[in-house]
Amino acid sequence: AAKTGHLRQVAYDPRLDQHNPHRLGLLGQLRRAITGGELVVFYQPKADASSGAILGAEALVRWQHPEHGLLAPNEFIPLAETTGLIRQLTSYVLATALRDCRAWRDAGHDVSVAVNVSARCLLDLELPVEIQRLTEEHEVPTDRLIVEITESVIMSDPNRALEVLNRLHALGVRLAIDDFGTGYSSLAYLKNLPVQELKVDRSFVTHMRERESELAIVRSTVDLGHNLGMHVVAEGVEDAATWQELSALGCDEIQGYFLGRPMPAGDVIGWLGSHRAL
Ligand code: C2E
Ligand code: CA
Ligand code: CA
Ligand code: CA
Repeated sequence: AAKTGHLRQVAYDPRLDQHNPHRLGLLGQLRRAITGGELVVFYQPKADASSGAILGAEALVRWQHPEHGLLAPNEFIPLAETTGLIRQLTSYVLATALRDCRAWRDAGHDVSVAVNVSARCLLDLELPVEIQRLTEEHEVPTDRLIVEITESVIMSDPNRALEVLNRLHALGVRLAIDDFGTGYSSLAYLKNLPVQELKVDRSFVTHMRERESELAIVRSTVDLGHNLGMHVVAEGVEDAATWQELSALGCDEIQGYFLGRPMPAGDVIGWLGSHRAL
């Protein structure tokens, strides 16, 4: 399973239930997984919408569980988030992603790497310090790291989150708002965030060719992003026609199964070498 990237997907996992006695067992297992090397980072490429040139890849974590096989992030990220383990998990993914990005760069590919960082981690003033240290250690220019955040970041402690985001921005790290359009944040807040990239949520992209309402949302997001001086990225692009339509709307970058599925780290350099731009 690890090779094909096939993931087990379940809608509701009783093991994650707060009142389930197995939850403690799973928590212990996850703690061990983080330190014991059971977490695996896959990468999904991202391309320039008009030229097809590869700009970078997004790190997507999986858990190679000794009994359950390769687990998708939605099976364990929620548990990590509610227990505080997410901070350690994020450190692991950041270090791995920067190490891998360095290897791609050494192989002649000047590409960026994007890491998903949960809202909770963005309340930690140590995060920018750690990121600075890791980019130095792996000799990756800070502007080749993209931190993907969701709109929920501004809900719990907006001032603290803004402080952390400003420090990351000051380091030169790029920030992206993930799943844009699915949260509740006000547009007034958006303009105060030091963000360079908006990622249109897959749910809008998937149906934009059949539904006028989805198309309208994608079109407005592209315009909004551009008016705020941001790059707009569409995720979940599964066919050539959708890519073409997004490109016609002025969307800057695309990501999705059509370009490439998330792949194991060991496949990335080969994939980058064989990919041809449009
Ligand atoms: P996301 O950041 O929105 O990542 C995109 C998800 O959509 C990934 O699922 C990816 O495999 C999937 N996807 C990409 N292209 C397509 C497509 O064309 N069609 C369809 N149907 N799906 C596509 P995945 O890997 O299961 O990750 C799910 C979520 O887990 C991510 O959503 C992200 O929110 C979270 N996640 C993943 N890795 C990390 C991590 O290291 N830290 C944190 N905090 N969250 C993570
Ligand atoms: Ca993401
Ligand atoms: Ca997303
Ligand atoms: Ca998501």
